[in-house]
Amino acid sequence: MEKIMQGRMDRGFQRYQKEYEEKALEVLRSGWYILGKEVENFENEFAKYVGTDYSVGVANGLDALWLAFRVLGIGKGDEVIVQGNTYIASVMGITINDATPVFVEPNEYYQIDADKIEEKITDKTKAILVVHLYGQAAEMDKITAICKKHNLKLVEDCAQSHGACFNGKMTGSFGDIGCFSFYPSKNMGAFGDAGAITTNDPELARLVKIYRNYGSEKRYYNMVVGANSRLDEMQAGLLRVKLTHMEDITKEREQLAAVYDKGINNPKVIKPLVAEGATSVWHQYVLRVKIESGEDKAAERDRFKAYLEENGIMTIIHYPIPPHRAQAYEYLNLPEGSFPITEEYAKEVISLPIYTGMTLEEQQRVIDCVNSFE
Ligand SMILES: *Cc1c(COP(=O)(O)O)cnc(C)c1O
Repeated sequence: MEKIMQGRMDRGFQRYQKEYEEKALEVLRSGWYILGKEVENFENEFAKYVGTDYSVGVANGLDALWLAFRVLGIGKGDEVIVQGNTYIASVMGITINDATPVFVEPNEYYQIDADKIEEKITDKTKAILVVHLYGQAAEMDKITAICKKHNLKLVEDCAQSHGACFNGKMTGSFGDIGCFSFYPSKNMGAFGDAGAITTNDPELARLVKIYRNYGSEKRYYNMVVGANSRLDEMQAGLLRVKLTHMEDITKEREQLAAVYDKGINNPKVIKPLVAEGATSVWHQYVLRVKIESGEDKAAERDRFKAYLEENGIMTIIHYPIPPHRAQAYEYLNLPEGSFPITEEYAKEVISLPIYTGMTLEEQQRVIDCVNSFE
């Protein structure tokens, strides 16, 4: 029996193979490989897609995040509010700048619980970092209102949410800066590392362009200590091809999620929910494994994972260790029990296979296996 991978990428390539190969040859033959017309065109097309005035390509999603806080002037002594159950890169974007992450528990949609943000605001709070986790838009009406009321900057981590909307407006267009990753496994994956920021502020766009290229706007005139975080022509060209297909890519994932929603009926698992006003682009389809009281949550989830694997179905845990419990953040002194909901989710969640080109037969195998777990 063939294994079903959790997030295979070959079929996404094969679907538009001819277009990718033509573009790759075009770039190879152009004789120009870093920051050229492909990057410039990609930036314009991506900004238009998201609905912002500007987009600036960078080397990856983490760089998009830390550069965002850098150009907003957020650093030592400043606090940034972020949800506890995110990928660690979100938090590193804050701490690379020596700012302090202040965690907030998630709601039942796995997004930051907007009703628990205000109690965390202090006179040091400078910004909120919203992560649209697993592809679902967070409650942006409440969050933008909080930012306005308390005069906070808003940064969005859209690494998993390309195309997701709240009340019809796309993620990455609400905040001062939107941060995107095009890591190959993301919904809008490149064929290597890539990232971008989006913004409506011409000065912030200009500053990111300066920072991504050694802090220089004009060659050899270095204004600030910057980074080498340039997007290359090959990735930008290939991303331009993918961007023209994003509507179909997203629609397909919505259909895949709908098939899971309809087919999965094992009372031992909790299916993902989408909040009123939000859409999900289903970067992940995340279940939670329920337990009888007294059982070890993580052990039960791991038994479920092993059962699927025995049947040739690969899954991934997003994420088994919450950032506040990572060794890297021991210095924050946040012991086990600091964020009970975040910690509970880390023990219960499991992401089913979902990818471009997944067949109905493959999904049926997953569904039958999930439903037969006892
Ligand atoms: C992938 C990811 C990042 C980091 O993106 P890279 O391109 O891998 O640096 C940041 N935040 C979230 C939520 C992610 O999923």
